[in-house]
Amino acid sequence: MADEGNDAVFEQLQIQRIRDEILPLFARLAAGEEAHFENPYLGRSRDPLRPEPVMCTSVGDAHERCWQIVRESRRRPHPETLCFPVDCRECPVYVDARPTIVEELGEEFNNMVHLLRRNRKNVQSAMNFTRDLACSLEDLDLENHRIREEMNLDPLTGLFNRRFLDESLEHEVQRCQHRRRHLSVLMLDIDHFKTWNDLHGHLEGDRMLARFGKLLRASIRDYDRAFRFGGEEFLVLFPDTGLEDARTVAERIRLRFEQLVFTVPVSRDFPEGRDSRTISGGVACYREGLGAMELLELADQALYCAKSSGRNRIECVPLHVVV
Ligand code: GH3
Ligand code: MG
Ligand code: MG
Repeated sequence: MADEGNDAVFEQLQIQRIRDEILPLFARLAAGEEAHFENPYLGRSRDPLRPEPVMCTSVGDAHERCWQIVRESRRRPHPETLCFPVDCRECPVYVDARPTIVEELGEEFNNMVHLLRRNRKNVQSAMNFTRDLACSLEDLDLENHRIREEMNLDPLTGLFNRRFLDESLEHEVQRCQHRRRHLSVLMLDIDHFKTWNDLHGHLEGDRMLARFGKLLRASIRDYDRAFRFGGEEFLVLFPDTGLEDARTVAERIRLRFEQLVFTVPVSRDFPEGRDSRTISGGVACYREGLGAMELLELADQALYCAKSSGRNRIECVPLHVVV
């Protein structure tokens, strides 16, 4: 009878301790605060019962209180003895540190908090990894874009190259065929460029080509495209543009180039060290039934016309001309 009475008192005491010591921990955890069960038996049992490494592969792990955490995955054979350590639940330290249901609950609570923190860290590092991966992919994408752009560029003039011209012209002509849009093409050629090279040297010739590239890029709209066709010949595509508008832009380019003065090596023929050149151009406009090559051919014919009628001028192919 007396024992039963003692048991009932003990039970009441444990229930009260659960209310006082354990339940508030859950409330603190839910509120996002630090929550830890202080187990007075743990310190008392740890020193006299310190487990040997053969019992627990986690012994010596400075950051974790191994006997508090039940981790089957850590149960690997000891590297020297090849014995399996005991389960943490059988570890004398763990067993001894839980004399009543309150300490047992408290230790389980601590284990749970530890695992929650570790999982949160894992999630964080997975998120960091994903973010780093996304950044690397973005870098790779930019690099690919840069390489693709470089493949389409002429290094000397910074204009698009002939390879990209073939692709672009075909695309633009198809767009005209399917959607009945306008497209004008301007072919340009520097006048007497050979004599420039002969007089001032090839390097000066290159310098002129580079400067002309810059002038051309600065003289057209964003959706027009300028190409180095080859040597000292250039081509501009004007999408959605009629013959007259293209001629106006071509005239502007011609005038700007005519006004450029280049410094050249001083010589008897050039005592002031200055010289300039002009350009000629031919404009053609897409009309129904034309293919890409035929359109180029028309612009080339107009350019030939400009050359043969004195250079430093722009000629257009009238719409009635038969190809
Ligand atoms: P025209 O007025 O009839 O166009 O005469 P032109 O001298 O400009 O034409 P021609 O076709 O006789 O000569 C073009 C010259 O362009 C010959 C070639 O050496 C030169 N050339 C081609 N590519 C380059 C280059 O990349 N750099 C330099 N410096 N010269 C080049
Ligand atoms: Mg020329
Ligand atoms: Mg030429």
